[in-house]
Amino acid sequence: MSTHGDTPSTPGAGVTALAPDRGEANFADFKPPYSDREAAAEANRCLYCFDAPCIKACPTAINIPEFIRKIGTGNVEGSARTIFDQNILGMSCARVCPVEVLCVGSCVFNRMDEKPIQIGKLQRYATDRAFATGRRFYEAGPDSGKSVALVGAGPASLACAHRLRRFGHAVTIYEKRDVIGGLNTTGVAPYKMKADRALEEVEWVLGIGGVTIRTGVEIGRDVTFSDLEARHDAVFLGMGLGPDNRLGVPHEDLPGVVGAVDFIEQMKLQPANLGGVRRALVVGGGNTALDAVRELLGLGIPEVTMVYRGTESVMSGYAHEWEAARVEGATARWRSQPVACVAGADGRLAGLRVISLDDNRKPIAGSEHDIPADLILVAIGQSKLVDALSHLDGLRFEKGRLVVGPDGATGRPGWYAGGDLISGGTEVVNAVAEARDAAVAIDRFLSTPAGATA
Ligand SMILES: Cc1cc2nc3c(=O)[nH]c(=O)nc-3n(C[C@H](O)[C@H](O)[C@H](O)COP(=O)(O)OP(=O)(O)OC[C@H]3O[C@@H](n4cnc5c(N)ncnc54)[C@H](O)[C@@H]3O)c2cc1C
Ligand code: SF4
Repeated sequence: MSTHGDTPSTPGAGVTALAPDRGEANFADFKPPYSDREAAAEANRCLYCFDAPCIKACPTAINIPEFIRKIGTGNVEGSARTIFDQNILGMSCARVCPVEVLCVGSCVFNRMDEKPIQIGKLQRYATDRAFATGRRFYEAGPDSGKSVALVGAGPASLACAHRLRRFGHAVTIYEKRDVIGGLNTTGVAPYKMKADRALEEVEWVLGIGGVTIRTGVEIGRDVTFSDLEARHDAVFLGMGLGPDNRLGVPHEDLPGVVGAVDFIEQMKLQPANLGGVRRALVVGGGNTALDAVRELLGLGIPEVTMVYRGTESVMSGYAHEWEAARVEGATARWRSQPVACVAGADGRLAGLRVISLDDNRKPIAGSEHDIPADLILVAIGQSKLVDALSHLDGLRFEKGRLVVGPDGATGRPGWYAGGDLISGGTEVVNAVAEARDAAVAIDRFLSTPAGATA
């Protein structure tokens, strides 16, 4: 093992100090928090449905009617406990979950022409109150004598680590970055949650104690996967996805053509440096593209245009996010396929050459034209991490996703996985649910005497 960044840290250490003037500081919270009175009034609107559809719509299956009822009766700490029992990242999920298509979208009030219960905002109210008291609710279990390696310090590994500590297993998280929290810290739109809040949650989760964090250690480069296996009794892979995909068109290496996830990470952790940018393009039609569009507008770029090869009706980004982007001033070029990045006479980025597509997404001959731009963000997905893992016997991939059983078990004994690595990219709440269930399966695996079948 190399000595690079190889110092065990106590919780909190390894978290880089965030610049106070980082780009994300420009953004206000788009959903202001409830006061006590507002929370009580909203909680008291809930019908506390038997067989509540919102529970089924929440990937972590939080008992939503129960936590809302507890807010209504003034038992706010009990409410938070109900949330954390199912979802230890309930504080950030309250802010970042796309509730419109999850819990809130399934509220029975939607079918009664009434405003649905604002479940995310109530969850935020309860979890923020719990954070303010400093209560952690859970303690580590008695030492089991077993140790588990977790690769990556994103939502998946954090949720898995917390549950494993409750079972009493020793836990070491290996993270290649200096900063902990994965995309919850480096990717989530700042009007939903800023990096400092994500890091506060990391500290709260790790406060259960007994978690060793090794930042700046990339498994596969600084430590081999076989070394990891030799040192620990089980392994959880929570590595997420790889770098932004590239367009694969000429002149893409011009300064000013940047991967969207890279750009967002810079904006969240560093001061923004967009002086001189007036016209920005975002290529893609997914949620990262929509976040990038809204973030550029929020940073004060006057003209922001989304360039997408499909139409509005088929884009994979959420309709409510596109609507918000449009209201904020974004425009779109539909059915437009990039063919080259274009340099001006001074050699600097001048725009994007696109060709128009017909209804069958076939290029229309002679339709090539240039869209002027000083900045192009490429938001056409993140690459998959197959290459880093494919040499390991027993791991199987489909469409770049690591294939696992329902409890996160891979085909390699003692190796489990969850989060974007297995889903190809969904939401924080999915990563938490998968990792929590994987921790239960890991505990079963570690508790089964060698030679017996789990
Ligand atoms: C721009 C953007 C915005 C998003 N916004 C939202 C949102 O608003 N709401 C929402 O619910 N979801 C959102 N998501 C999705 C959400 O962030 C992810 O689904 C979630 O973070 C997945 O968690 P994870 O732990 O699987 O992976 P990640 O969060 O990606 O964490 C993986 C970690 O593993 C580390 N790692 C990778 N390889 C190695 C290695 N070999 N050795 C050591 N460490 C390694 C990485 O550095 C990273 O820290 C967004 C995603 C993006 C890209
Ligand atoms: S975790 Fe997300 S989906 Fe589940 S109840 Fe909370 S806000 Fe809704």
